[in-house]
Parts: sequence; C-alpha cells; structure tokens
Amino acid sequence: MIYFIGAGPGDEDLITVKGRRIIEAADLVVFTGSLVSKTHLKYCKPDCVKISSAPLTLEEVMDKLIEFHDQNLTVVRLHTGDPSIYGAIGEQIKILDERKIDFEVVPGVSSFTAACSSLKKEFTLPGISQTVIVTRLAGRTPVPEKEDLELLARHQCSMAIFLSVKDMKTVVKKLTAGYGSDQIPIAVVYKATWPDEKIIKGTLADIAEKVAAHKIEKFAQILVGEFIDTDFDRSLLYHPEFTHDFRKGNQ
Ligand code: SAH
Repeated sequence: MIYFIGAGPGDEDLITVKGRRIIEAADLVVFTGSLVSKTHLKYCKPDCVKISSAPLTLEEVMDKLIEFHDQNLTVVRLHTGDPSIYGAIGEQIKILDERKIDFEVVPGVSSFTAACSSLKKEFTLPGISQTVIVTRLAGRTPVPEKEDLELLARHQCSMAIFLSVKDMKTVVKKLTAGYGSDQIPIAVVYKATWPDEKIIKGTLADIAEKVAAHKIEKFAQILVGEFIDTDFDRSLLYHPEFTHDFRKGNQ
C-alpha cells in the first residue's frame, strides 16, 4: 500500500498517531527533504529505505514508490504539514490513478494552523472574521489572476499566506491596497514548532522592515488580519443565555 502522510509542521509529536504507526511499519519512506523534520525517520524500522525527494524528479519519485509497491511492501510518501496544501500530491495521485494503484492520504497539521497556535490566537473571532483565506503570491507556480492577493485582501478577513516571505514588499503592497489600511496587524512565523521558531509581529506599515532585519527569506507563514490584535464579541456557543442541542440557556 502507498500512503501519502502529513508529517505536520516540524515538531515530531505533531504527526497523527496513524501517520506515526504507518512510518513504523514502512519499508520505504520518501520524504520532502527540505521541509520534513528528519526526527520522524528515527521511528522507521532498521531496514527501512529512506530517500529525500529533494534532488529527484516526479518521475524518479514515482518509480521508487511503484517499485516498492509492486513488491507488496509498505510505502510512505512523507509530506510537510498537511499533504493537501501546496503538497504537489495531485500530480502523484494522477500517475497512481492512471496505473490503477490504490493509495491512502493521511492528513497532517498544516503550518498555517500551527503558526496560529504559536501566536496563541484564533483565526475565526465572532464579529471580526469567520473566514480564513489560505493563499500565496505567485512564484514559479502562477496564481490565477482572480486570486490576486490584493483582491483577496478586500474581503478583510483572516489570511494565511504561504511561500511568500521572500517578497514581503509585494505582500505588504497588495495587502495594504486590499485591506485599505496599513494599520492591519500581521505576524510572520518562521519555522513554526521547530526549536528555532521565530515570531515577528507588527502592522502592514512596519512588518517588511522587521522581517528584513531578521533576514527571514523562506520557511515562514504570514498571518494577517484583525484577529491578531483586537477586542471581539464572545461566542454564542458558550454564552449562558444561548440554547443549543446540548445545553439549555437561562433565557
Ligand atoms: N503542506 C505544507 C505546505 C508546503 S509549502 C503545510 O500544510 O504546511 C511550504 C511552505 O509552507 C513554506 O514555504 C512556508 O510558507 C510554509 N511552511 C511549512 N512549514 C512551516 C513551518 N513550520 N513554519 C512556517 N511556515 C511553514
């Protein structure tokens, strides 16, 4: 069986129990070399073959996965965070589907929720925002025009921006135009949950300067929105006057 597994954001304990169990049983683990913490590999069997996908092409990765699969062995493709977000599993799944090879996807903790935990914040505050936009700037991978950061920022909701810290100036320019203010709170979380995690907080007016001073150019989440620094309404769910399926309110 082939398993695509989300390794979580960094801290080795942030993988699912299911993911860890499959890694313990695996005969082959192909891991995303640049981003997956190597500490996951210490749970592999001694004879497990461990390969970094960093220097490989898609075809080379797939050849390896299929070679082991064809010998009835347990195969893991280990991705950072959650595999469904910028994981490039779509193209791997397409090849397996064409070959009629069965596989399973085991979710993981994405770095955008991990970064929010590091900030000790909630994306979805009542009266502030009930929506989180997960996006990125275009890089070598293009982003559809209708998803341009400035257009998305016009919703003025909570946002998590991946793969974009290298170009903070463009991020800030588009967000400022979209939100219509440079006083919106923003945080950059570098290597969330890793031992060398760094959190930089500011507003759209000063964040680019602060990030440049810390020389952060990759491996960071950019979280933006009023949720980072605001007063808000309490939730109805836990309000004493609110009745729901499991509790009768006092009014
Ligand atoms: N599937 C992954 C994302 C892979 S794309 C996930 O769900 O998190 C790689 C990008 O994710 C990085 O450039 C960075 O923007 C972000 N990222 C991954 N791990 C991170 C971490 N521990 N802290 C901050 N950002 C991270």
